[in-house]
Amino acid sequence: MSDVYAEPTTGAVPTDPATLARYTTLRLGGPAGRLETATSAEEIVQKVRDAEMREDPVLVLAGGSNVVIGDRGFPGTVVLVRSRGFRVIAEDADTVTVRVEAGEPWDDLVAATLKRGWSGLECLSGVPGSAGATPIQNVGAYGQEVAETITGVQAYDRTHREVVHIPAADCGFAYRGSIFKYSDRWVVLSVDFRLARSPLSGPVRYAELARALGVEVGDRVPLADARATVLRLRAGKGMVLDADDPDTWSVGSFFTNPVLERAAYELLRERAADLGEPPSWPGAGDVVKVSAAWLIDRAGYGKGHPGLEGVAISSKHTLALTNRSGTASTAALVALAREIRDGVHDRFGVTLHPEPVLINCTI
Ligand SMILES: Cc1cc2nc3c(=O)[nH]c(=O)nc-3n(C[C@H](O)[C@H](O)[C@H](O)COP(=O)(O)OP(=O)(O)OC[C@H]3O[C@@H](n4cnc5c(N)ncnc54)[C@H](O)[C@@H]3O)c2cc1C
Repeated sequence: MSDVYAEPTTGAVPTDPATLARYTTLRLGGPAGRLETATSAEEIVQKVRDAEMREDPVLVLAGGSNVVIGDRGFPGTVVLVRSRGFRVIAEDADTVTVRVEAGEPWDDLVAATLKRGWSGLECLSGVPGSAGATPIQNVGAYGQEVAETITGVQAYDRTHREVVHIPAADCGFAYRGSIFKYSDRWVVLSVDFRLARSPLSGPVRYAELARALGVEVGDRVPLADARATVLRLRAGKGMVLDADDPDTWSVGSFFTNPVLERAAYELLRERAADLGEPPSWPGAGDVVKVSAAWLIDRAGYGKGHPGLEGVAISSKHTLALTNRSGTASTAALVALAREIRDGVHDRFGVTLHPEPVLINCTI
């Protein structure tokens, strides 16, 4: 069994077991009022219900790789999701549908499906965290998103106090978003993915990945090659968790790529005229998605740019803010995020939005 949720052993490890910094990849976050570990869907529901009976606020935390928790912590019940496993719930000649427990470590699932010759998650190799958190922000990387393979989600509905099945069409999947993000209503218990029986990846959509694989965009490659290449590219950017590499003590990308209306995009091009063409991708409708990393870098915040207390932009990736000293405060990290957001706005008139969920802190 993977120990991906093991507490950090490098950097300054807080001694108080309820200190949430122990459970986040940023190694930041003050104390929990109460900490509960749930190892099955039933236990997750029970722990949440128990907290509600006590009229305690609830924070569901899994891999802690997409949260920024304030220095004052969370003065309620934190439920650590540690359920494991997956099983086939439907299959036909071409596809397999697996139901995955929320706490299953995501990359273990990806590796297991690829090994069985099931295609659909290969480009999401190496993303940290749990399977149950992937629908929350519609996890995506290298041209793939979980919205393409999720068929439904089993969740505890805290409003109606019942376990429900939510078909993918009702999950509101969008770029780094869904009905689940910023909502306390749903606790994801398990997720269903439909995967293709194929030794080959889906068509490679991401130019950088195609280049690294030595193929054209649109080609398919053996699953193992896709995984190995994605992991190599990610590691080069500090995007695979490594306890010994402070460049990975982050939440991955701190800001989403801004999605601009056409007029705002033209304004950006004018303001950036001296810097060349901002990298961009056409979005759905008349919108344009712009590279946040480019905006940050060109606004003067390059790799390694420091904040206070040893927080800094990753030395490998402009979009990752790191607690590289391992001893910083959340206040220092969000101050750096604020400096970058304001600097980009002053230079380009574009507002960056954080990708992680901020808990008891703000930028
Ligand atoms: C180095 C690094 C690289 C990354 N690369 C990527 C990437 O390429 N693409 C990408 O999309 N993301 C990336 N991320 C972000 C992160 O890994 C994903 O968002 C991941 O899905 C978060 O999973 P988690 O279990 O750690 O969630 P947590 O951080 O524990 O929780 C995140 C949010 O989801 C909620 N949540 C978690 N589990 C549940 C549940 N069962 N039910 C209800 N709510 C829940 C939490 O309350 C919180 O609001 C990266 C992060 C790091 C540190």
